Amino acid sequence: MDRMSAAAAPAPASRRVLLAAPRGYCAGVDRAVIAVEKALEQYGAPVYVRHEIVHNKYVVETLRKKGAIFVEKTEEVPPGNIVMFSAHGVAPVVHEEAARGRLATIDATCPLVTKVHKEAVRYAKDDFDILLIGHEGHEEVIGTSGEAPDHITIVDGPDDVDKVVVRDESKVVWLSQTTLSVDETMQTVDALKTKFPLLVSPPSDDICYATSNRQAAVKAMGADSDLVIVVGSKNSSNSIRLVEVALDAGARAAHLVDYASEIDEAWLDGVTTVGLTSGASVPEVLVEQVLEWLAERGFADVEIVKTAEESITFSLPKELRRDLRAEAAGLVADQ
Ligand code: SF4
Repeated sequence: MDRMSAAAAPAPASRRVLLAAPRGYCAGVDRAVIAVEKALEQYGAPVYVRHEIVHNKYVVETLRKKGAIFVEKTEEVPPGNIVMFSAHGVAPVVHEEAARGRLATIDATCPLVTKVHKEAVRYAKDDFDILLIGHEGHEEVIGTSGEAPDHITIVDGPDDVDKVVVRDESKVVWLSQTTLSVDETMQTVDALKTKFPLLVSPPSDDICYATSNRQAAVKAMGADSDLVIVVGSKNSSNSIRLVEVALDAGARAAHLVDYASEIDEAWLDGVTTVGLTSGASVPEVLVEQVLEWLAERGFADVEIVKTAEESITFSLPKELRRDLRAEAAGLVADQ
Protein backbone atom coordinates (compact mmCIF):
# COMPACT_ATOMS: atom_id res chain seq x y z
CA MET A 1 0.00 0.00 0.00
CA ASP A 2 1.46 3.43 -0.89
CA ARG A 3 1.55 6.38 1.49
CA MET A 4 -1.41 8.18 -0.16
CA SER A 5 -3.77 5.24 0.05
CA ALA A 6 -2.67 4.51 3.63
CA ALA A 7 -3.48 8.09 4.65
CA ALA A 8 -6.87 7.98 2.90
CA ALA A 9 -7.97 4.66 4.45
CA PRO A 10 -10.79 5.22 6.95
CA ALA A 11 -9.88 4.54 10.58
CA PRO A 12 -11.68 1.46 11.89
CA ALA A 13 -14.71 2.64 13.84
CA SER A 14 -14.10 2.01 17.53
CA ARG A 15 -16.32 -0.70 18.82
CA ARG A 16 -17.59 -0.53 22.35
CA VAL A 17 -20.05 -2.00 24.80
CA LEU A 18 -22.21 0.15 27.08
CA LEU A 19 -22.90 -1.99 30.13
CA ALA A 20 -25.97 -0.96 32.11
CA ALA A 21 -25.83 -0.73 35.90
CA PRO A 22 -27.80 -1.79 37.78
CA ARG A 23 -28.64 -4.99 35.94
CA GLY A 24 -29.27 -8.65 36.85
CA TYR A 25 -30.30 -10.13 40.18
CA CYS A 26 -32.62 -8.12 42.41
CA ALA A 27 -33.00 -8.69 46.14
CA GLY A 28 -36.17 -10.79 45.71
CA VAL A 29 -34.59 -13.17 43.20
CA ASP A 30 -31.37 -13.47 45.18
CA ARG A 31 -33.38 -14.42 48.26
CA ALA A 32 -35.53 -16.96 46.40
CA VAL A 33 -32.58 -18.72 44.78
CA ILE A 34 -30.64 -18.87 48.06
CA ALA A 35 -33.80 -20.18 49.76
CA VAL A 36 -33.95 -23.19 47.41
CA GLU A 37 -30.23 -23.90 47.89
CA LYS A 38 -30.49 -23.63 51.69
CA ALA A 39 -33.61 -25.81 51.73
CA LEU A 40 -31.78 -28.50 49.75
CA GLU A 41 -28.90 -28.38 52.25
CA GLN A 42 -31.22 -28.33 55.26
CA TYR A 43 -33.82 -30.94 54.32
CA GLY A 44 -32.07 -32.84 51.51
CA ALA A 45 -33.37 -33.47 47.99
CA PRO A 46 -35.92 -33.35 46.65
CA VAL A 47 -37.39 -29.97 47.49
CA TYR A 48 -40.54 -29.26 45.49
CA VAL A 49 -41.00 -25.78 44.06
CA ARG A 50 -44.34 -24.61 42.73
CA HIS A 51 -43.67 -22.96 39.36
CA GLU A 52 -40.24 -21.74 38.32
CA ILE A 53 -38.71 -20.18 41.44
CA VAL A 54 -37.73 -17.21 39.21
CA HIS A 55 -38.23 -16.78 35.48
CA ASN A 56 -34.80 -17.81 34.25
CA LYS A 57 -33.92 -20.97 32.33
CA TYR A 58 -30.33 -21.21 33.61
CA VAL A 59 -31.31 -20.75 37.26
CA VAL A 60 -34.11 -23.32 37.03
CA GLU A 61 -31.84 -25.88 35.29
CA THR A 62 -29.05 -25.35 37.84
CA LEU A 63 -31.42 -25.87 40.79
CA ARG A 64 -33.01 -28.88 39.09
CA LYS A 65 -29.58 -30.52 38.89
CA LYS A 66 -29.10 -29.90 42.62
CA GLY A 67 -32.36 -31.69 43.46
CA ALA A 68 -35.23 -29.20 43.14
CA ILE A 69 -38.37 -30.53 41.47
CA PHE A 70 -40.51 -27.89 39.77
CA VAL A 71 -44.24 -28.57 39.60
CA GLU A 72 -47.12 -26.64 38.08
CA LYS A 73 -49.76 -27.63 40.62
CA THR A 74 -49.64 -28.13 44.37
CA GLU A 75 -51.41 -31.51 43.98
CA GLU A 76 -48.36 -32.88 42.15
CA VAL A 77 -46.35 -32.80 45.41
CA PRO A 78 -46.56 -36.10 47.33
CA PRO A 79 -48.11 -35.70 50.83
CA GLY A 80 -45.69 -35.05 53.67
CA ASN A 81 -43.15 -33.19 51.51
CA ILE A 82 -41.97 -29.60 51.49
CA VAL A 83 -43.18 -27.23 48.80
CA MET A 84 -41.69 -23.82 48.18
CA PHE A 85 -43.69 -20.98 46.64
CA SER A 86 -41.88 -18.88 44.04
CA ALA A 87 -40.86 -15.22 44.21
CA HIS A 88 -43.97 -14.27 42.18
CA GLY A 89 -46.32 -15.11 45.04
CA VAL A 90 -49.42 -17.30 45.29
CA ALA A 91 -53.09 -16.81 46.05
CA PRO A 92 -54.45 -17.83 49.49
CA VAL A 93 -56.18 -20.80 47.85
CA VAL A 94 -52.74 -22.29 47.13
CA HIS A 95 -51.86 -22.21 50.83
CA GLU A 96 -55.13 -24.05 51.48
CA GLU A 97 -54.28 -26.68 48.84
CA ALA A 98 -50.91 -27.24 50.52
CA ALA A 99 -52.55 -27.66 53.92
CA ARG A 100 -55.03 -30.20 52.47
CA GLY A 101 -52.12 -32.11 50.92
CA ARG A 102 -50.30 -32.20 54.29
CA LEU A 103 -47.39 -30.25 52.82
CA ALA A 104 -44.92 -28.13 54.73
CA THR A 105 -44.49 -24.81 52.95
CA ILE A 106 -41.71 -22.30 52.49
CA ASP A 107 -42.95 -19.04 51.05
CA ALA A 108 -40.29 -17.35 48.90
CA THR A 109 -42.69 -14.66 47.66
CA CYS A 110 -40.74 -11.43 47.24
CA PRO A 111 -41.61 -9.04 50.10
CA LEU A 112 -42.38 -6.37 47.49
CA VAL A 113 -45.03 -8.65 45.96
CA THR A 114 -46.39 -9.38 49.43
CA LYS A 115 -46.75 -5.61 49.90
CA VAL A 116 -49.10 -5.49 46.88
CA HIS A 117 -51.07 -8.50 48.22
CA LYS A 118 -51.57 -6.65 51.51
CA GLU A 119 -52.74 -3.52 49.70
CA ALA A 120 -55.28 -5.62 47.76
CA VAL A 121 -56.60 -7.17 50.99
CA ARG A 122 -56.87 -3.78 52.67
CA TYR A 123 -58.72 -2.05 49.83
CA ALA A 124 -61.03 -5.03 49.37
CA LYS A 125 -61.87 -4.87 53.06
CA ASP A 126 -62.84 -1.22 52.56
CA ASP A 127 -65.00 -2.41 49.64
CA PHE A 128 -63.04 -0.63 46.88
CA ASP A 129 -63.04 -1.80 43.29
CA ILE A 130 -59.37 -2.57 42.62
CA LEU A 131 -58.01 -2.05 39.09
CA LEU A 132 -54.90 -4.23 38.93
CA ILE A 133 -52.66 -3.10 36.07
CA GLY A 134 -50.77 -6.16 34.89
CA HIS A 135 -50.47 -8.94 32.37
CA GLU A 136 -53.39 -11.36 32.32
CA GLY A 137 -52.16 -14.87 33.09
CA HIS A 138 -48.84 -13.81 34.68
CA GLU A 139 -48.20 -15.75 37.90
CA GLU A 140 -47.83 -12.61 40.02
CA VAL A 141 -51.14 -11.21 38.72
CA ILE A 142 -52.89 -14.55 39.39
CA GLY A 143 -51.52 -14.52 42.95
CA THR A 144 -52.50 -10.92 43.70
CA SER A 145 -55.96 -11.34 42.14
CA GLY A 146 -56.52 -14.37 44.34
CA GLU A 147 -56.33 -12.18 47.45
CA ALA A 148 -59.60 -10.44 46.54
CA PRO A 149 -61.13 -12.07 43.46
CA ASP A 150 -64.49 -10.33 43.90
CA HIS A 151 -62.95 -6.86 44.01
CA ILE A 152 -60.17 -7.04 41.40
CA THR A 153 -60.37 -6.26 37.68
CA ILE A 154 -57.22 -6.78 35.63
CA VAL A 155 -56.30 -3.92 33.31
CA ASP A 156 -53.76 -5.17 30.78
CA GLY A 157 -52.52 -1.83 29.39
CA PRO A 158 -54.13 1.42 28.14
CA ASP A 159 -56.22 -0.38 25.51
CA ASP A 160 -58.12 -2.19 28.25
CA VAL A 161 -59.36 0.98 29.95
CA ASP A 162 -62.44 1.49 27.78
CA LYS A 163 -64.04 -1.75 28.87
CA VAL A 164 -63.46 -1.29 32.63
CA VAL A 165 -66.69 -1.13 34.63
CA VAL A 166 -66.85 -0.31 38.36
CA ARG A 167 -69.64 -0.35 40.92
CA ASP A 168 -68.98 3.05 42.51
CA GLU A 169 -66.70 5.58 40.82
CA SER A 170 -65.90 7.20 44.18
CA LYS A 171 -64.35 3.97 45.52
CA VAL A 172 -61.80 2.86 42.94
CA VAL A 173 -58.07 2.29 43.45
CA TRP A 174 -55.35 1.14 41.08
CA LEU A 175 -52.54 -1.27 41.97
CA SER A 176 -50.00 -2.88 39.66
CA GLN A 177 -47.77 -5.83 38.94
CA THR A 178 -44.21 -5.14 40.16
CA THR A 179 -42.41 -5.72 36.85
CA LEU A 180 -44.19 -3.50 34.33
CA SER A 181 -42.90 -0.74 32.10
CA VAL A 182 -42.93 2.40 34.24
CA ASP A 183 -43.91 4.61 31.28
CA GLU A 184 -46.66 2.37 29.93
CA THR A 185 -48.13 1.96 33.40
CA MET A 186 -48.36 5.73 33.81
CA GLN A 187 -50.16 5.92 30.44
CA THR A 188 -52.66 3.36 31.72
CA VAL A 189 -53.08 5.28 34.98
CA ASP A 190 -53.64 8.54 33.09
CA ALA A 191 -56.32 6.89 30.94
CA LEU A 192 -57.96 5.44 34.07
CA LYS A 193 -57.89 8.86 35.78
CA THR A 194 -59.59 10.44 32.78
CA LYS A 195 -62.32 7.86 33.02
CA PHE A 196 -62.51 7.78 36.83
CA PRO A 197 -61.42 11.21 38.17
CA LEU A 198 -61.69 10.03 41.80
CA LEU A 199 -59.31 7.11 41.21
CA VAL A 200 -57.13 6.50 44.28
CA SER A 201 -53.40 5.72 43.88
CA PRO A 202 -51.54 3.16 46.01
CA PRO A 203 -49.66 4.62 48.99
CA SER A 204 -46.30 3.85 47.31
CA ASP A 205 -45.16 2.57 43.92
CA ASP A 206 -46.00 -1.06 43.21
CA ILE A 207 -43.48 -1.28 40.36
CA CYS A 208 -40.45 -2.30 42.35
CA TYR A 209 -37.13 -0.50 42.72
CA ALA A 210 -35.30 -3.17 40.69
CA THR A 211 -37.65 -2.91 37.71
CA SER A 212 -37.49 0.92 37.73
CA ASN A 213 -33.71 1.03 38.13
CA ARG A 214 -33.03 -1.46 35.32
CA GLN A 215 -35.33 0.46 32.98
CA ALA A 216 -33.67 3.79 33.86
CA ALA A 217 -30.21 2.36 33.10
CA VAL A 218 -31.37 1.02 29.72
CA LYS A 219 -32.95 4.37 28.89
CA ALA A 220 -29.63 6.07 29.64
CA MET A 221 -27.65 3.87 27.22
CA GLY A 222 -30.37 2.98 24.68
CA ALA A 223 -30.13 6.12 22.54
CA ASP A 224 -26.36 5.69 22.10
CA SER A 225 -26.61 2.00 21.17
CA ASP A 226 -26.97 0.58 17.67
CA LEU A 227 -27.94 -2.73 19.19
CA VAL A 228 -29.10 -3.60 22.72
CA ILE A 229 -28.77 -7.14 24.00
CA VAL A 230 -30.90 -8.02 27.03
CA VAL A 231 -29.95 -11.25 28.78
CA GLY A 232 -33.12 -12.85 30.12
CA SER A 233 -35.72 -15.53 29.50
CA LYS A 234 -38.74 -15.21 27.22
CA ASN A 235 -41.15 -15.66 30.15
CA SER A 236 -39.49 -12.94 32.25
CA SER A 237 -41.75 -9.89 32.33
CA ASN A 238 -39.09 -7.45 33.50
CA SER A 239 -36.61 -8.67 30.83
CA ILE A 240 -39.14 -8.24 28.01
CA ARG A 241 -39.84 -4.73 29.27
CA LEU A 242 -36.11 -3.91 28.99
CA VAL A 243 -36.19 -4.73 25.27
CA GLU A 244 -39.19 -2.41 24.81
CA VAL A 245 -37.59 0.38 26.85
CA ALA A 246 -34.36 0.12 24.80
CA LEU A 247 -36.29 0.50 21.54
CA ASP A 248 -38.34 3.40 22.92
CA ALA A 249 -35.12 5.08 24.03
CA GLY A 250 -33.80 5.04 20.47
CA ALA A 251 -31.78 1.83 20.07
CA ARG A 252 -31.86 0.68 16.43
CA ALA A 253 -32.44 -2.93 17.49
CA ALA A 254 -32.87 -4.85 20.73
CA HIS A 255 -32.97 -8.59 21.37
CA LEU A 256 -33.60 -10.89 24.32
CA VAL A 257 -31.29 -13.91 24.71
CA ASP A 258 -30.91 -16.55 27.39
CA TYR A 259 -27.32 -17.34 26.41
CA ALA A 260 -24.47 -15.84 24.36
CA SER A 261 -24.86 -18.75 21.93
CA GLU A 262 -28.27 -17.34 20.89
CA ILE A 263 -26.78 -14.10 19.56
CA ASP A 264 -26.94 -13.90 15.77
CA GLU A 265 -23.67 -12.66 14.21
CA ALA A 266 -25.75 -10.74 11.65
CA TRP A 267 -27.06 -8.49 14.44
CA LEU A 268 -23.57 -6.91 14.54
CA ASP A 269 -23.62 -5.75 10.89
CA GLY A 270 -22.86 -2.02 10.86
CA VAL A 271 -22.89 -1.88 14.67
CA THR A 272 -20.26 0.07 16.59
CA THR A 273 -21.98 0.38 19.98
CA VAL A 274 -23.69 -2.52 21.73
CA GLY A 275 -25.75 -1.84 24.85
CA LEU A 276 -25.87 -4.76 27.28
CA THR A 277 -28.09 -5.41 30.27
CA SER A 278 -29.88 -8.27 32.02
CA GLY A 279 -33.23 -8.89 33.71
CA ALA A 280 -33.75 -9.11 37.45
CA SER A 281 -33.66 -12.93 37.43
CA VAL A 282 -30.38 -13.27 35.52
CA PRO A 283 -27.11 -14.35 37.18
CA GLU A 284 -24.05 -12.29 36.24
CA VAL A 285 -22.21 -15.29 34.77
CA LEU A 286 -24.54 -15.13 31.74
CA VAL A 287 -23.67 -11.45 31.16
CA GLU A 288 -19.95 -12.29 31.45
CA GLN A 289 -20.36 -14.91 28.73
CA VAL A 290 -21.95 -12.32 26.43
CA LEU A 291 -19.11 -9.88 27.17
CA GLU A 292 -16.59 -12.59 26.20
CA TRP A 293 -18.54 -13.35 23.01
CA LEU A 294 -18.52 -9.65 22.09
CA ALA A 295 -14.83 -9.20 22.96
CA GLU A 296 -13.96 -12.04 20.57
CA ARG A 297 -15.66 -9.97 17.84
CA GLY A 298 -13.82 -6.73 18.54
CA PHE A 299 -16.09 -5.28 21.21
CA ALA A 300 -13.56 -5.37 24.02
CA ASP A 301 -13.95 -1.78 25.17
CA VAL A 302 -16.58 -1.77 27.96
CA GLU A 303 -18.04 1.41 29.50
CA ILE A 304 -20.35 1.18 32.50
CA VAL A 305 -23.48 3.34 32.34
CA LYS A 306 -24.53 3.63 35.97
CA THR A 307 -27.75 5.31 36.97
CA ALA A 308 -28.36 4.02 40.53
CA GLU A 309 -26.75 2.28 43.50
CA GLU A 310 -28.61 -0.67 45.02
CA SER A 311 -28.09 -1.99 48.52
CA ILE A 312 -31.44 -3.66 49.32
CA THR A 313 -31.35 -7.20 50.69
CA PHE A 314 -34.13 -9.40 52.11
CA SER A 315 -33.84 -12.00 54.84
CA LEU A 316 -34.66 -15.63 54.01
CA PRO A 317 -38.27 -16.91 54.28
CA LYS A 318 -39.30 -17.18 57.92
CA GLU A 319 -39.89 -20.95 57.86
CA LEU A 320 -36.35 -21.53 56.68
CA ARG A 321 -34.83 -19.08 59.15
CA ARG A 322 -36.68 -20.86 61.96
CA ASP A 323 -35.30 -24.28 60.97
CA LEU A 324 -31.79 -23.00 60.32
CA ARG A 325 -31.79 -21.30 63.73
CA ALA A 326 -33.12 -24.43 65.41
CA GLU A 327 -30.45 -26.58 63.79
CA ALA A 328 -27.76 -24.13 64.75
CA ALA A 329 -29.00 -24.44 68.33
CA GLY A 330 -28.85 -28.24 68.06
CA LEU A 331 -32.60 -28.59 68.47
CA VAL A 332 -33.46 -30.29 65.19
CA ALA A 333 -33.61 -34.05 65.35
CA ASP A 334 -32.07 -35.95 62.41
CA GLN A 335 -34.52 -35.96 59.53
S1 SF4 B 1 -38.31 -7.88 40.38
FE1 SF4 B 1 -38.88 -6.64 42.16
S2 SF4 B 1 -40.76 -7.58 42.95
FE2 SF4 B 1 -39.81 -9.06 41.55
S3 SF4 B 1 -38.54 -10.35 42.87
FE3 SF4 B 1 -37.24 -8.67 42.16
S4 SF4 B 1 -37.38 -7.09 43.78
FE4 SF4 B 1 -39.08 -8.51 44.04
